[in-house]
Amino acid sequence: MLQTINIRTQKRTELVDITAEVAEAVKRSGVQSGLCHLFLPHTTAALVINENADPSVAIDIAESLDRLIPWDFDYRHQEGNAAAHIKSSLLGNSLTIFVEEGKLLLGRWQGVFLCEFDGGRARKVVVKVVEG
Ligand code: ZN
Repeated sequence: MLQTINIRTQKRTELVDITAEVAEAVKRSGVQSGLCHLFLPHTTAALVINENADPSVAIDIAESLDRLIPWDFDYRHQEGNAAAHIKSSLLGNSLTIFVEEGKLLLGRWQGVFLCEFDGGRARKVVVKVVEG
């Protein structure tokens, strides 16, 4: 069963905590032990696992990426969002998380984030939870 998580982002750059939505998809799948695969079919966003206990961490990540890869630069890509493509490439667009006892096997401080780099937009994450 393929599931879809729909996210509406608000800002140009933001990290949206989707841990609860991913956990819900695992629950709906009924899988107790297996793998949760997440795929983001977008070129200007990314998926990342990092701390969601202190919300400042997500802001620091977003702001640091903005400093590393500035929006305004002499890029070749004429659409004007080259920085977003580069950030997406650096972080990646898929994740795999172990599932045990019907729950995501995340570390105590870990959460799953959709990283928006060219928002606000309608985004979707496709989820497949497989037994095994
Ligand atoms: Zn583009």
